[in-house]
Amino acid sequence: MSESETGLPGGTAWRDVPCGLVGEKHAGQSVRVAGWVHRRRDLGGVVFVHLRDRTGLLQLAFNPDWTPAPAMDALAGLNPEDVLAVEGGVELRPEQAVNPEMATGSVELRVHGFERLSESAPLPILVAVPPEEDLPSEELRLRHRVLDLRRLEMQRNFKVRHLAANAARGALSDDGFLEIETPFLTRRTPEGARDYLVPSRIHPGEFYALPQSPQLYKQMLMVAGFDRYFQIARCLRDEDLRADRQPEFTQIDVEMAFVDEDDVFAAAERMLQRILREAAEIELELPVPRMTHAEALEHYGTDKPDLRIPWKLEDFTEALTGLGFGIADGAREAGGRVRGFRVPGGGSIPRSRLDAANEAARAHGARGAMWLKRSEQGWSGPPARFLEGEAADRIVALHAIEPGDLVLLVAGPDPETSPALDALRRQIGQETGAVREGFRWTWVTDFPLFERDAETGQPVASHHPFTMPDVSDPELLESDPFSVGSRAYDLVLNGTELCSGSIRCHVPELQKAILRVLGMDEAEIESRFGFLLESFRYGVPPHGGFAMGFDRLVAMLVGTNSIREVIAFPKTTAARGLLEGAPSPVAAGELAELGLHLR
Ligand code: ASP
Repeated sequence: MSESETGLPGGTAWRDVPCGLVGEKHAGQSVRVAGWVHRRRDLGGVVFVHLRDRTGLLQLAFNPDWTPAPAMDALAGLNPEDVLAVEGGVELRPEQAVNPEMATGSVELRVHGFERLSESAPLPILVAVPPEEDLPSEELRLRHRVLDLRRLEMQRNFKVRHLAANAARGALSDDGFLEIETPFLTRRTPEGARDYLVPSRIHPGEFYALPQSPQLYKQMLMVAGFDRYFQIARCLRDEDLRADRQPEFTQIDVEMAFVDEDDVFAAAERMLQRILREAAEIELELPVPRMTHAEALEHYGTDKPDLRIPWKLEDFTEALTGLGFGIADGAREAGGRVRGFRVPGGGSIPRSRLDAANEAARAHGARGAMWLKRSEQGWSGPPARFLEGEAADRIVALHAIEPGDLVLLVAGPDPETSPALDALRRQIGQETGAVREGFRWTWVTDFPLFERDAETGQPVASHHPFTMPDVSDPELLESDPFSVGSRAYDLVLNGTELCSGSIRCHVPELQKAILRVLGMDEAEIESRFGFLLESFRYGVPPHGGFAMGFDRLVAMLVGTNSIREVIAFPKTTAARGLLEGAPSPVAAGELAELGLHLR
């Protein structure tokens, strides 16, 4: 890392150069460095200390030959993580002492004197965790987050995060977007989760909601004429936490006026290209491919396809029905299909694994999975005995099954088979090493406007209620809501939804019809969204936008699965801040002031 790359000024009151930037060019010079005691090694009279700051480690060499006696004596009381200011001479290390693992490994600082700026108490968790050792438990890491963040790996994560945010700002600014902040204390916004509520002291009995996203504000900014808006926005959702959700998270939130999908995708792609280039030195090839929601379900069984796995789902109904194979015929008679995917060379996957696949399919709601193998000797697996003569020729011709291949099949109605096939594709992909390296992007477009609520069967918005339907007639929309498509889209990276958005519904009558389908009456529409619809009365431009999950993006860039690794002070999966102890009870007097009392 060069000096300018770290962004750290070299000289400040306490130091001339950051530790990790001391190098051969400083040889022969006297420099001052400052940082934390990382590790120390005593070799008889000679002591080596690694001093650490965010730029890296520097070896300090204490030796009575050049270190004055008081400094040698003071060494005895040094603790890990003490903060030191050190002055010494930079020397090239003798050849056999060069450490190629260390960026500063060709030099050392021969200490002439040091000052202990601050002393560290015994550590509850190690900062200098040896590479071969496991990290402390996540609970301990979060409880002692300040120490955990000192590790160079964490420092690097936040550098990448910063570079990514900067690149996003730069790209969007260059494209004419304005960064505008929207309120935190607001009225409820529907993104499908529960709101965090903030009691109003001045208006007892009334509550602000913390924003689930800036959705309505960014749309009103378009009505207000700003044309192109962005914000690196914090969003708050009071959800039951799943493993990798946070109650507060960050989105790059974008909205544009007078646009269609092509314009939005182009802006998002340019931004992404710059983020990848500047934060991770990855070149993103543009344009990002697209597929419709229907194609995604047909070929991958999911709207979040992991395109690192090369296999596509195929429809085996034609090849497997009419042969006396009851499972296939039964599925077809009930309006279903037999779908599956071919694993080239998968014939060597053992029986026990295939039984496990069957279990996995059941766990995902299908009645089970079947396997079919083709070898030089013939077919094996449950459908094998139906594949003779012409039937065998037909399945080979239709699905290009080669000797040595495995086919995994699931029979039934699509809504049952799709999730199971998606799960199997991912699982077998992982297990057989078929998941390719790198980043595979795709836009998924044309989502249905509504989905069925799993419990009530009632329509819920598949994206959010402000999405433009693909019909312009409010009556049509209300009479058959599930048949209506929408102009919503997602950007999917390696099987994860990274970004979603839509062209918005800017037609008030259509917007009201959507809200009615969602079960709201005129009074509720007026009370919850009257302010948005009111703004639409005075000239609203067609508009659309997206929000990109920033934590997830950065996590992928640094190669971690957990967004907690790229959030400085995250909550646990039980929504607690272990460091500061949040949430916490408040005194009765404070509640009274807010007009509240606890049951
Ligand atoms: N507000 C949406 C979300 O948070 C994104 C968008 O439609 O722009 O998912």
